Amino acid sequence: MRHWLIKFSIILLLFSVAFGTQKYCKTCKGELTGQYLIHKGNNYHRSCYDKHIQIYCDHCNRKIEASYNTSKGKNYHKRCFQQHIQKRCNECGDLINGIYNVHKGKEYHESCYVNHILPKCDICYQPVEDKYIKDFWGNYYHHYHEDKIPSCDNCNRLISKQLTKGGFSVSGNRFVCNLCKPNVVKSKSQLNKNLVEVLNVFKKIGINELPEKIPVTLVDSKDDLIKMSGHRHGNIQGYTSYEESTLAGKIIDQDYHIYILSNLHEEIFNAVLAHELLHVYLFQNQIDLQSDFREGFCNLGSSLIYENYTSKLSKYRLKNMNENTDPDYGIGFRKMKSMLDKIGWKRLLKKLPRL
Ligand SMILES: [Zn+2]
Ligand SMILES: [Zn+2]
Ligand SMILES: [Zn+2]
Ligand SMILES: [Zn+2]
Ligand SMILES: [Zn+2]
Ligand SMILES: [Zn+2]
Repeated sequence: MRHWLIKFSIILLLFSVAFGTQKYCKTCKGELTGQYLIHKGNNYHRSCYDKHIQIYCDHCNRKIEASYNTSKGKNYHKRCFQQHIQKRCNECGDLINGIYNVHKGKEYHESCYVNHILPKCDICYQPVEDKYIKDFWGNYYHHYHEDKIPSCDNCNRLISKQLTKGGFSVSGNRFVCNLCKPNVVKSKSQLNKNLVEVLNVFKKIGINELPEKIPVTLVDSKDDLIKMSGHRHGNIQGYTSYEESTLAGKIIDQDYHIYILSNLHEEIFNAVLAHELLHVYLFQNQIDLQSDFREGFCNLGSSLIYENYTSKLSKYRLKNMNENTDPDYGIGFRKMKSMLDKIGWKRLLKKLPRL
């Protein structure tokens, strides 16, 4: 907060010698001869001044004879004022004149405040005033950096040397930071391990009949994935294609294929995989839900995965799911989550076909 220090006025007491035109004492109206005093533009006999105008220091209570300071209606010797009344900067210890800043009850020179007290931007290292962003990871930065610097597809940090040790781009319009890089899923060879992990999580809640072998393909471009899915939803990370073969009205074969964005952090990859596997579960069981129940249910799989991790990244992704305002992925998810919390997995799975 910026404050003004009540400016100290220096009022000089001038001594003058009367000659030429006649002058009169402001107090007694008597004629001035010889030495007299001028104070604030008025003339006084020395004795009249002492009796009626003389001011005293509000700090030491002694007479003020020369220049003095006023502050909040009180008068002080210059020395008394500087030593006892005038504010000192809490940073450099010097006296404060003019504009100063108050921070947590302490006073600072404006420049001391800006250079030493104001938090610095973690990206450009300049002081952060007014509008700033504090991200989930505790980074502070100017809000305008957000428009210019791409953010990590996984952790949402702004990709910069300072925040993420840099990063890389995937297919030109997706970005992954170097903090997430060591944990991203990008090769087909590791997919089976992830599939087994997620299937095991589902077994624990009573979903046992998911196929053990489902083809999973990594897709670099989000646009490709969106096109593939025929979705209008821009935040898509995975998609499951489903085909069934029927003979005389009976399903004789079901075919699934899961597509997931490449370069997702392993925890996010597993969460997306869990979401898609619950779509498979719905196909398998011929359960056709309205979109908010459907996506909300599949997101229960993602939250189940995130809850199994203790990392800050999983906490961050869970937080996003809980704050998501999308009618299906956010509101639908919370609808299904509160149902799950009330009745548990077993009863929820039983109840699904009747939703
Ligand atoms: Zn007089
Ligand atoms: Zn004094
Ligand atoms: Zn200072
Ligand atoms: Zn900055
Ligand atoms: Zn990241
Ligand atoms: Zn879905």
